[in-house]
Amino acid sequence: FPIILLCTLMNAQQRPWNDKSKTIDQRIALLLKEMTLDEKIGQMNQYNGFWDVTGPAPKGGTAEQKFEALKKGKIGSMLSVRGVKEVRAVQKIVTEQTRLGIPLIIGFDVIHGYKTLSPIPLAEAASWDMDAIQKSAAVAADEASAAGINWTFGPMVDISRDARWGRVMEGAGEDPYLGAKVATARVKGFQGTDLSAPNTVAACAKHFAGYGFAEAGRDYNTVDISNSTLYNIVLPPFKAANAAGVRTYMNSFNILNGVPATGNSFLQRDILKGQWKFNGFVVSDWASVREMVAHGFAKDGAEAAKYGVTAGCDMDMEGNLYVTELAKLVQDGKVSQELIDDAVTRILRVKFELGLFDDPYKYCSEAREKTIGQKQNHEAVLDMAKKSIVLLKNDNQLLPLKKSGMKIALIGALANDKNSPLGSWRLASDDNTGVSVLEGMNAYKGNQLVYEKGADLITKPAAFTQELVFNVSDKSGFDAAKKAAKAADAVVMVLGEHGFQSGEGRSRTNLDLPGLQQELLETIYAENKNIVLVLNNGRPLAIEWAAAHIPAIVEAWHLGTETGNAVAQVLYGDYNPSGKLPMSFPRNVGQVPIYYNNYNTGRPTDADNNVFWSHYTDVQKTPLYPFGFGLSYTSFAYSDLKSDKPSYKKGETVNVSVTLKNTGNFDGKEVVQLYIRDEAGTLARPVKELKGFELAELKKGESKTVHFKLTNDELGFYDNNGNYKVEAGSFKIFVGGSSNDVLETSFVLTE
Ligand code: BGC
Repeated sequence: FPIILLCTLMNAQQRPWNDKSKTIDQRIALLLKEMTLDEKIGQMNQYNGFWDVTGPAPKGGTAEQKFEALKKGKIGSMLSVRGVKEVRAVQKIVTEQTRLGIPLIIGFDVIHGYKTLSPIPLAEAASWDMDAIQKSAAVAADEASAAGINWTFGPMVDISRDARWGRVMEGAGEDPYLGAKVATARVKGFQGTDLSAPNTVAACAKHFAGYGFAEAGRDYNTVDISNSTLYNIVLPPFKAANAAGVRTYMNSFNILNGVPATGNSFLQRDILKGQWKFNGFVVSDWASVREMVAHGFAKDGAEAAKYGVTAGCDMDMEGNLYVTELAKLVQDGKVSQELIDDAVTRILRVKFELGLFDDPYKYCSEAREKTIGQKQNHEAVLDMAKKSIVLLKNDNQLLPLKKSGMKIALIGALANDKNSPLGSWRLASDDNTGVSVLEGMNAYKGNQLVYEKGADLITKPAAFTQELVFNVSDKSGFDAAKKAAKAADAVVMVLGEHGFQSGEGRSRTNLDLPGLQQELLETIYAENKNIVLVLNNGRPLAIEWAAAHIPAIVEAWHLGTETGNAVAQVLYGDYNPSGKLPMSFPRNVGQVPIYYNNYNTGRPTDADNNVFWSHYTDVQKTPLYPFGFGLSYTSFAYSDLKSDKPSYKKGETVNVSVTLKNTGNFDGKEVVQLYIRDEAGTLARPVKELKGFELAELKKGESKTVHFKLTNDELGFYDNNGNYKVEAGSFKIFVGGSSNDVLETSFVLTE
């Protein structure tokens, strides 16, 4: 017994970095000094844990090998291990059986909730409600950390203008200003104010950078963009994440203008760690270090490892190249010790900040694990879900539905689906745990509700990793659906995409309603025109026919666990929708990429912005629904837009105000949006750029003045060298309820 005690004591003395009275920098220095090259490289290696750590080894016995690697200190981080029992098991191995006892940092894709799912991120962005988004991320962090997770691979802050790209569901849409605000809210929500608190997780801004600009929206494809697009559109949300204190970044699979993002020094060293002074660490995307060989950039794995670490990619996710190649590269003088030390310092810093050295089991409390899925989390995601809904059309005030005395037909396979509305990326959530629209509507007892599927959406059950099969041909359910529609006062049809139809690797060339859904919609319309179309989807859809014919359309995305309750509360008017689209909806795929902050052509336009050759001969130039668009059950009138002066000196604040009146019959909330146009710049300026928004809640009949401030931060832009410039000249200001529906004024900025 005394000998054991002595060993423990000696260990404690030999590990002076565990002394909490020292600063983190001092503790890192003390630890780094003790580490061998192999131990350092181990910290830079992240291993996948998609296996039951405490259970039997999976086929091939790799679990045992992984235990060996853990014991030898060859792994600094694991991803996808989850659950207190599992995380405790791996932390125990590294802290008790390796020489230095360095804890792992456990990463996981917490993309829109852990177990209790909030809406997909694109939907959340449609709320324009930063407090709600921050809260939603905090709930996700609370649940994930209760399951032993220290670090989420989110938020994804990639801007995208291409609805074909399946990963638009993970982002905040097409606009860098909104994207930057959402990135900030999510980082704050995940990380809280104290990263070492047991209910917070380190966030990861991804994918650095350009991933959302994959050519033709095909996932992982080439990205070739101008410097202006890079600096003004792609980078702002990443920069905002850094300003909010994000502790990690993930680089990206794509090549950016010829250089893979993973091996891109310009991005990671010059911009991120140089100009932005980011002192956390960068993790690769899944095997993206290795993919540099396939890209035709690195000649072999050794060169890929060298490029990765040299360019500032500190941790190799699942590529297994750092751990096999780096030691030799250092010994041969091809990679310097300083580079390794820099990477390890960054990784250790985040581990210290998380408090993992002080208590590796801090995030592993069985008591907290039991709180996952608690009632208050369901309430929070329900609130977020309602705020994410966008009312696209409501002719003749078909909505809200009366609560009694109506016969309602509910039609569509998605209406009775408890799985699909959960959306993509929900690795810790059980299938079929969402509230379906049918269940949500059934909670309202006053009406007679008849459900008919009409037709299946897909031919067999879907999973995250499986391709979906849409070649459904069985229309035998059409007749019953027609009959129900004919007998009903109103028809609610839930149509759209399957939850796994968007997400990673889920690009589409059609943005229509897949399978038999369009045919079903038109068939039902022939029976009863009083249709409320509820859309479930992970991306903008091209629903031109529906927009022209169907009187009411509700964009309900994939709203997560509480989907059906949120939808029913909106349909029955217990919640007045206020969401606004964070991405333009095209009329058809040929218009894509279509986005509001485009440049003008040199061609003159008519009042409809439509003729003189820069147009299509077969479809209007405008989107079906523009960025920022969304209706309410009430109506709002804008008036009296003004700036407090006609002219300002650079650096002065431009105060803008507008009067908003609730002119309808419901209390409601409006997202008041401010756009500017710099009328002439040393780089051509977009027709409009979002530079402010405010959520205004007004009782019916009420008026309010809404104020905005424009400073240098809003009035400038980045030149082709990445320098931010504010230029004197005339500016237009537009304020309204969408990017298209605005009042206009102007001011002059002088030197
Ligand atoms: C995705 C990342 C994700 C990672 C780990 C990759 O395929 O691109 O966004 O975090 O896998 O699951």
